[in-house]
Amino acid sequence: MEKLIITVAPTGAQTTRKHTPYLPLTPEEIADSIYESWKAGAAIGHVHVKDMMGENTMDLNVYQEVIDRVQEKCDIILNLTTAGGLETTEEERLRVCELNPEMATFDAGSMNFGKGVFHNSPSFLEKLAAKTKKRNIKPEIEAFDVGMIHNALRIAKKELLDDPFHFQFVLGVAGGMPATPKNLMYMIDSIPEGSTWSAIGASKDQLTINTMSILLGGHVRVGMEDSVYFRKGELATTNAQFVKRIIELAKTLGREVATPQEAREILQLRTKTKIG
Ligand code: ZN
Repeated sequence: MEKLIITVAPTGAQTTRKHTPYLPLTPEEIADSIYESWKAGAAIGHVHVKDMMGENTMDLNVYQEVIDRVQEKCDIILNLTTAGGLETTEEERLRVCELNPEMATFDAGSMNFGKGVFHNSPSFLEKLAAKTKKRNIKPEIEAFDVGMIHNALRIAKKELLDDPFHFQFVLGVAGGMPATPKNLMYMIDSIPEGSTWSAIGASKDQLTINTMSILLGGHVRVGMEDSVYFRKGELATTNAQFVKRIIELAKTLGREVATPQEAREILQLRTKTKIG
C-alpha cells in the first residue's frame, strides 16, 4: 500500500466559534494550526479563510497571508478551497486559482448542503477545470455522492481534467451520501483505476471513515472543518490532536505515513514547493 497522506482542514466554511471556541480564524491562527499539524505528521493543509468578523471570505490577500506564514515555517502542501461559503460568487471562486496553489478543491456537483444549496453548475465546473489545468494546479475532486464522480469524468472526457485523478469522498453531509461502509465501498468502486482517493466522514463519522480509509489504501482528512469533537462530549482543542490520533492509528494498523514530499510524488503534483 502507498504511504498514507494526511490532510488537515483546520477551519472550513461551516464551522464557527459557536461550535467550538478553539476554531482558528485569523491568518496567524490558521497558519499556526497548519504548522502544528505538519509537525504532527500532516502532508496537506486545506485552507479556508475568514474576514475580520469571522465570516467566510475569498479575499486573495488573506489567503496570501496564510500561504506566506505557512511557507515561512514548513513544506506542507497547500490545498486552497474554491468553494468559500454557499453564497460565494463564481468569479470569486475562480479567482483563487490565481494564487497558483499546488492543489485546489473541485466540488464536482450541485447539492443541498445543510439548509442551503451548494451550486456547482456544469459550466462553472468546466471553467474551474480549465483554470486549474492551465495553471497546473491539482484539482482535489470532492464527491459528496457517486453522481459527482461521473460529473468529473464527463469533464475529463473534454480534456479539461487530467488523470491520474485525486478524489476526496465527502460522506455524511446533510444533502450528500451518508457515511456508511457500503457507500464508501461504492465510491471506491466508481473511480477509474490509477486514481488516488481520500475520505471524510463528517462529524461523528470521521474516525470510522478514517479507519476504513487507512485499511483500504485511501488517504484521510481530519480537522475542525469536518468535526469539532475529539470524542463524544469532548471538543478537540487543536487540529494537531486529530492528526496525532491518525498517526497512532496508522502505526497500529501498519500503514506508513507520507511526508509532504512523498505526498507530492504519490499525487503527481508539479515539482514546485513555493506557491503564491
Ligand atoms: Zn473545505
